[in-house]
Amino acid sequence: MELEDINTITVLGAGNMGHGIAEVAAMAGYDVRMRDIKDEFVENGYDQIEWSLNKLAENDRIAADDVEETLDRITPLVDMEEAVADADFVIEAVPEQMEIKKDVYEELESVAPDDAIFATNTSSLSITELSEVTERPERFCGMHFFNPPVRMQLVEVISGAHTDEGVLDVTEALAEDMGKSPVRVHKDSPGFIVNRVLVPLMNEACWLVHEGEATIEEVDSTTKYAMGLPMGSFELGDQVGNDVSYHVLEYMHEVLGDAYEPCPLLEEKVENEELGKKTGKGFYDYEDGEGAQIPSDQQSDLVEARLVASMANEVAKLIGDDVAPPESIDEATQLGAGFPDGPVTVVDEYGIEEALETLEEAYEETRHERYEPADYLRERSEAGGFYEAAGGDGAETADFDAIRVEHPGEMVGEIVIDRPHRMNTISDQVLEELSEAIDRLEADADVRAILLTGEGDRAFSAGADVQSMAGSGADPLEAVELSKLGQSTFGKLESCDLPVVAGIDGYALGGGMELATCADVRVASERSEFGQPELNLGLLPGWGGTQRLANVIGEGRAKEIILTADRYDAEAMADYGFVSEVVPNDELDERAFELAADLAAGPPIATKFVKRAMLAGRHDTDAGLEYESAAFGQLMATDDLMEGITAFMGDQEPEFEGK
Ligand code: NAD
Repeated sequence: MELEDINTITVLGAGNMGHGIAEVAAMAGYDVRMRDIKDEFVENGYDQIEWSLNKLAENDRIAADDVEETLDRITPLVDMEEAVADADFVIEAVPEQMEIKKDVYEELESVAPDDAIFATNTSSLSITELSEVTERPERFCGMHFFNPPVRMQLVEVISGAHTDEGVLDVTEALAEDMGKSPVRVHKDSPGFIVNRVLVPLMNEACWLVHEGEATIEEVDSTTKYAMGLPMGSFELGDQVGNDVSYHVLEYMHEVLGDAYEPCPLLEEKVENEELGKKTGKGFYDYEDGEGAQIPSDQQSDLVEARLVASMANEVAKLIGDDVAPPESIDEATQLGAGFPDGPVTVVDEYGIEEALETLEEAYEETRHERYEPADYLRERSEAGGFYEAAGGDGAETADFDAIRVEHPGEMVGEIVIDRPHRMNTISDQVLEELSEAIDRLEADADVRAILLTGEGDRAFSAGADVQSMAGSGADPLEAVELSKLGQSTFGKLESCDLPVVAGIDGYALGGGMELATCADVRVASERSEFGQPELNLGLLPGWGGTQRLANVIGEGRAKEIILTADRYDAEAMADYGFVSEVVPNDELDERAFELAADLAAGPPIATKFVKRAMLAGRHDTDAGLEYESAAFGQLMATDDLMEGITAFMGDQEPEFEGK
């Protein structure tokens, strides 16, 4: 079966996941039959789809007309035969219980067309065992969407023991056609990739506290601010649900052995029904308390060492057992769990030898199997890292992680900020890679214009990576350095000899807007939003914002934008003269490329001289930049900054005291 042969998709289950999957499939143009066991369940699922589509239309993520058209493609059904009679592809999302699922597959096999592919959305059950209930185990695989499917990019496509390669190819193609990023998992191994990384990490966090090595605050402070993960370990556990982590762990324990023994602390939470946010209490108190309040200053080297070591062991087992290669593990964890860098990269950067040493010492001390180093970890430790070990043409791709450089033709070199899971926020790494990419494109005789874009359709760039700033311990000197690094990289872009077009789709906020300011021409999609929200954080726009914006739109407008810290839509920014053109959302890529190609076709030497002359004619921007970076450093020492960042992270209004 090829992708073209798939027209009708049946989704079994209209619950949390089922309705979301049905919505995504219908948005991609498929005829969808959504089946549940009672009218009220399918209707409820259908209502939720309608609500979600209307929300998407309100936020300009789809056109208003698409709401009805998409709904028209979905038929809610209770009758199984009717639901699958024309199915080319069946996605099952019924409750996570082996017996229920087996019953569903028996019934399904008896009524589904012979050539239909079956895909299960299970998070933890054996795909092989489920496939064996049917008469088509070779046409059966895992298709693991993340919650909520409409927003989460990742789909793990998992091979059962009998699955045909061709079936996996079609399933991946289908996920892509639904606008998702599939990652292949070669073996039906518990937790697949993302849960296999997250759940043992959560368990290790529990063990550290259970054994008195650290407090919950220390673990979460370290996870969030030293390791830079999007949430504290316990905060994440509470979000996912402690029962969910516990059950996945129990399954891993059963299949993979004692290394996955659930920590008594986690078990206790489940017994006491302290399941996390959903019950109002977990490791943090969400009802009477303030929820997860994570201090940025309780980072612990021991906690970081143990958590990184635990991740190192887990990824070594995944790679060593051929479940997935390093690139897939990193990509899946970034997309599915919002890790800024994938776990394999984190371990390589931390030092694989140190991770191994930590495991050996802890194993020596505790004799607990979770610390027993995997053979493959020893092997890679000798080779110096996972990625070097993967061999091949690593050098080319490992070159840039946070951005991509592409050559779409017409002498255009495109720089894409490639952190969609972090709204393309700008970290030190983005700055360093951007600087290198500009040098390379300038030196490339086949490139005559730069096009700058952000991956995905949510953000061009939502600004600086505030989290990594708060984690730098609010050190004024580091802050001045960070400001200067941004200023010099952005300055390089502004003064580069090639014309630069920024194609803006989604948020261009803070540092993201400052970056766009360095382009020569800006074109934006209708849904784009702009702003310099730094003052809300007790900061100032420290990457040239106090200087360059005024050059483009005049001091009055620039002051208004910076001092109000308000958001502006694309039309308003076109009125202010910041954006040259506003285009429909789905035409942005094409129009931005066209503009860049147009500038690339211009006379290179005259273009260069125009840019240099205009820059030379400006007033003393350098003095302004010097003042800006020094001020940025001074702000680091203020209480207002901590207030601003804490309020921002907790989604609250800051109360500044001028201290
Ligand atoms: P849910 O309980 O919200 O929905 C399950 C739905 O299936 C219910 O509406 C139920 O009535 C229906 N159902 C029961 N028997 C059925 C049958 N014979 N035919 C059709 N429908 C039937 O559960 P959920 O959270 O949507 O999870 C569904 C699956 O997705 C599970 O395998 C789960 O592990 C997996 N999953 C869940 C998440 C998540 O975060 N919730 C994420 C990824 C995967």
